[in-house]
Amino acid sequence: MSFDVTVAPKFDTCFAVNCRMCNSQNFVRVDESDFIAWRNGELIQNALPYLDANERELLQTQICGTCFDYIFSDEN
Ligand SMILES: [Zn+2]
Repeated sequence: MSFDVTVAPKFDTCFAVNCRMCNSQNFVRVDESDFIAWRNGELIQNALPYLDANERELLQTQICGTCFDYIFSDEN
């Protein structure tokens, strides 16, 4: 039995997150150990610095970037 660790991806966990506003499915790829660090209380920007703001929002609130912009944009 062999296992070639050199081909193991850096980001080994992919979350499918359904936006609770528009129900669109979004994928967020993370390193599992980084994700665990966040769940254990690390600030998300420290634990998962490679995620963009929309991806962090998805994990924290289950709201996609499009809906987030819609909610927080001022109505004209
Ligand atoms: Zn949405």
